[in-house]
Amino acid sequence: MSDHPLFNEEHQAIRKTLREFVAKELAPYADEWEEAKEFPRSVFNRMGELGFLGLQYPEKYGGQGGDYLCGIILAEEMMGSLSAGIAMSIGAQTDMVCALLNKVGSESIKERFLRPALAGELIGCLCITEPDAGSDVAAIRTTSEADGNRYIINGQKTFITNGVRADFAIVVTRTRGSEGAKGMNLFIVEKGTPGFSVSRTLEKVGMHTSDTAELAFQDCPVPAENLLGEEEQGFYYIMWELQPERLFGAVSSVAAAQIYLDITLKYVKERLQFGRPIGKFQTIRHRLGELATEIEAARQLSYHVAGLIKVGEFPAGEIAMAKLYSSRVANKVADEAMQFHGGYGYMMEYPIQRFWRDSRLIRIGAGTDEIMLEIISRQMGL
Ligand SMILES: Cc1cc2nc3c(=O)[nH]c(=O)nc-3n(C[C@H](O)[C@H](O)[C@H](O)COP(=O)(O)OP(=O)(O)OC[C@H]3O[C@@H](n4cnc5c(N)ncnc54)[C@H](O)[C@@H]3O)c2cc1C
Repeated sequence: MSDHPLFNEEHQAIRKTLREFVAKELAPYADEWEEAKEFPRSVFNRMGELGFLGLQYPEKYGGQGGDYLCGIILAEEMMGSLSAGIAMSIGAQTDMVCALLNKVGSESIKERFLRPALAGELIGCLCITEPDAGSDVAAIRTTSEADGNRYIINGQKTFITNGVRADFAIVVTRTRGSEGAKGMNLFIVEKGTPGFSVSRTLEKVGMHTSDTAELAFQDCPVPAENLLGEEEQGFYYIMWELQPERLFGAVSSVAAAQIYLDITLKYVKERLQFGRPIGKFQTIRHRLGELATEIEAARQLSYHVAGLIKVGEFPAGEIAMAKLYSSRVANKVADEAMQFHGGYGYMMEYPIQRFWRDSRLIRIGAGTDEIMLEIISRQMGL
């Protein structure tokens, strides 16, 4: 993956530094943090200090001033932590929260939130999903109502990554009385604001190192200066934000699939049955060859799309294809990895079960397979 022509020497240097950091400071703790169902907050601080959270953001706000591909490299290399949960938490900070702050935040918002978020001093979360509004973003019911120089927010959000320990939340609301895509807003709600609480920490099938929250907003007063971007433009901001988030999911999936395949390759060369390495059985060899081909196809599609985004294009249909295909490939490879590890694959002491559990999410989060197919088929005129 690292010698693809899309990446220049500077990119390669960033990749090398990131890879060394992940191998030394994250991967050795993957099992411990999985068991603790949390990774230390100091990981954010450390990654901020090393400049990894701001790779693709302006130097003016403490970022590294790199291009979009630096974010792609981060997404890929974080999978080397062997904990997709950590990668997801960091990705929510860099590619959901910081992306929006940088795109539509005022100077004052960038100073108050983007700068400390890039430094890893503040953790943020993005709250779109509600108990009754998931795929249908325009159906959200959380309201905001102007009240002098502040707004009052009421509603509930669920499945929010980083929501438990976030210092601030970007909350999608709708102007009271509005309907559909019109009238949606983004507000920054800080921890400690009266009426804002974590109503539940959610237990998940996988991604255990990443916290997921249900959040409540009850008559929650937010200063008018915490409105992010223009009033009633929230739906369009979210539709923009979802594009890079989906590609982040696609390249993470490809990187994860490659790791699952590499671990499995090593195993099938060492595991003997019927007097020979199981990788010598043609049925296994051929299936591994197929998986390698699918990973490469997913990688090339994702890189093609990354190249377009780098030059300012947002090809929603191709982004959806990359996300759909890459996440399915990661799921397939994780499933086959478990199959080829036999009973050992099913044991908690091997990481394969974690890959199998973690990889399932990406077909649901950031837009489900079915929503990706909706986007693709709509572009086909259907
Ligand atoms: C671990 C985790 C972390 C998450 N992190 C965040 C976060 O940080 N912030 C945030 O806002 N959200 C987050 N989400 C929410 C995630 O984006 C939603 O779960 C996802 O968009 C699907 O919404 P839903 O769960 O309500 O499912 P639903 O929308 O109810 O979908 C249920 C099923 O119906 C299908 N379906 C729905 N509409 C259609 C259609 N038009 N055509 C065909 N099929 C359809 C879906 O594909 C799915 O199979 C997270 C979710 C999880 C599980």
